Amino acid sequence: MNQIKVLWKKIDFCSLRLRLTIGIAIVSALGNGGIAIWMSWRMQQILVDSHKSHVEQIAARLPYDVKLYSEMMQLETGLQKAINNLTNTNSFLWVQKLNRQIIAKSTKWHSLSDSTVAELMAKTEMPIKPEVYKIGQRYFILYSGSLQVEGKLIGKLFIVQDITSEQIMFLAMIQTLWIASILVIIVITAVIAYYVRRSLQPLRQLNQMTEVISAKDLAQAQLHLDNAPSEVKELAQTFNMLLSRLSQSWEQERQFVSNVSHELRTPLTIVHGYLQSVLRRQNNLTEIQIEALETAASEAEQTISLLEDLLDLARADSGYLHFQIESCILNDLVAEVVGMANKYSERTIQIEDKACFVKAKVDYNRLKQVLLNLIDNAIKYSQPDTSIILKLNQQGNQATIQLCDRGYGIPLQHQSRIFERFYRVDEARNHATGGSGLGLSIVKTLVEGMGGSVTVHSKLGEGSVFTVILPI
Ligand code: ADP
Repeated sequence: MNQIKVLWKKIDFCSLRLRLTIGIAIVSALGNGGIAIWMSWRMQQILVDSHKSHVEQIAARLPYDVKLYSEMMQLETGLQKAINNLTNTNSFLWVQKLNRQIIAKSTKWHSLSDSTVAELMAKTEMPIKPEVYKIGQRYFILYSGSLQVEGKLIGKLFIVQDITSEQIMFLAMIQTLWIASILVIIVITAVIAYYVRRSLQPLRQLNQMTEVISAKDLAQAQLHLDNAPSEVKELAQTFNMLLSRLSQSWEQERQFVSNVSHELRTPLTIVHGYLQSVLRRQNNLTEIQIEALETAASEAEQTISLLEDLLDLARADSGYLHFQIESCILNDLVAEVVGMANKYSERTIQIEDKACFVKAKVDYNRLKQVLLNLIDNAIKYSQPDTSIILKLNQQGNQATIQLCDRGYGIPLQHQSRIFERFYRVDEARNHATGGSGLGLSIVKTLVEGMGGSVTVHSKLGEGSVFTVILPI
């Protein structure tokens, strides 16, 4: 039952595949069903017509026989004789006056019970149509007409033809026809489902190909479909043109960010340098002037760091960010980073390295930048009295560095997005802490550039653990 539910949920009722299959299956079912109904009706008509003509022959012959016999005997005796002559195992005749009194009837018809004969006679009280009548388990065709001998009306003639054996054969044939039709419908539906699936395969392929295209490989991305229908090939070509236009504008945007960052960084660095030197020789400055200069210097520093991040990202995007990968002892690197962090923050950062050396193939300076970014975040997004722990570990052919804080934590729905550029969780709180939302995207770019990966596990109100995994 559960499996059926799961299967039911999996069915996409809006899919083109299902709609086409159902549509064509309905058309084929209607077509097949229509043909089967028409054939059944037509065959029944042919059966009725053939018996009707036989009965009409009997009806046409009776007046001649009656005339012949009546020349030798009384009319009623002759009529009875003629009726008996024309009666056989399948035909039953009787003649009745207009007041329904029976003048003569077949006497030899033993195969029918009295009740069946009575029922048949009762049927003749209503107008009779040329069709098959079912009485009990048997099938009959009824005929009625007036009997005239030499222009004299004798009475009303009724002929009953027992067609049970033919009708049973006919019903068996109809049944076979219906079974065959249903089988044909099932087979057609299965073939159509397969055909529709195959026809839509190129579209699915196109979808899979476009799904994996990221901003990085826009320039190389090309969609090739070999055995696709021409409409889908056209679509793929249009996609390719769109991709190349996207790639161009993405490249232009990257170039623009890189140029702007570069052009702004140099003058800002000079401004920052001047501000610092003025602040160093502050003998004749008022307190307000010192405060203003300090604010300007700090803003300039933050903007320079933002521009540097942007430049790094632009370089990484265009593949110009180079790494000097060498085997490093991570214990030394971590200790150095913690020492540096201690210079600008009073937070104590513990190192847990289980007294063993952990080596990894990394770019020493870039990894330092990564860890400083993570430590900076851990300090920014936690209370001053909470601890920060750096754990160093080696698992198989991977080295892991974990940075654990007991800070505010990151809501689950934001965790997958915090590595995006300019993505910040709580804009109001983040504003107070400074930063631009680029730190973690730099971390991710650098770590991935060194062949590693970075993940986050966090619980709101309990803290976060950032894990950097690096190849040994
Ligand atoms: P920012 O410059 O805002 O720090 P980041 O890219 O470094 O930018 O971080 C993106 C966002 O992720 C931050 O704005 C913050 O909301 C969240 N974040 C990052 N590190 C932590 C952490 N250790 N604890 C809680 N939130 C964090």
